[in-house]
Amino acid sequence: MLMAVSKKIVLRFPKRLVDKPIVSRLVRDYNLDFNILKASVTPEEEGLLVLELTGDRKDYDRGIGYLLKAGVKIQSLSQEVTRNEERCTHCGACVTICPTGAFVLDLKTRSIRFRGEKCIACGLCISACPPHAMEVHF
Ligand code: SF4
Ligand code: SF4
Repeated sequence: MLMAVSKKIVLRFPKRLVDKPIVSRLVRDYNLDFNILKASVTPEEEGLLVLELTGDRKDYDRGIGYLLKAGVKIQSLSQEVTRNEERCTHCGACVTICPTGAFVLDLKTRSIRFRGEKCIACGLCISACPPHAMEVHF
């Protein structure tokens, strides 16, 4: 019996791979289905894709192996990103970096609100936060 898996993952494509038909090969060569949840380009011109990838377990593992070999960085959405409130200085550096708009400037209090429910755990804010207030948990 085939075992189906469906996982949400974040793919980061280095600049040299951004124009390559990498994801379409997942369908053609590995029988996987995908659903693009989010696509954007980071400030470093990396391509960022959030996908729900579905298929037979064996195909899935082979497809992930193919992506890694091609130089794509993969993160699972099973990790969680939180903010250490004591460290946050509300500097705002994270606001434009976050691809999903998880940080909002509250004009009344001049503070940055973190909406954890919007976070897809891409990790971009972690290195961008000067006082290292953003933390990743596995
Ligand atoms: S970059 Fe860090 S310190 Fe600045 S507002 Fe965002 S979470 Fe807070
Ligand atoms: S990890 Fe940071 S940058 Fe990425 S979605 Fe979550 S809050 Fe936004």
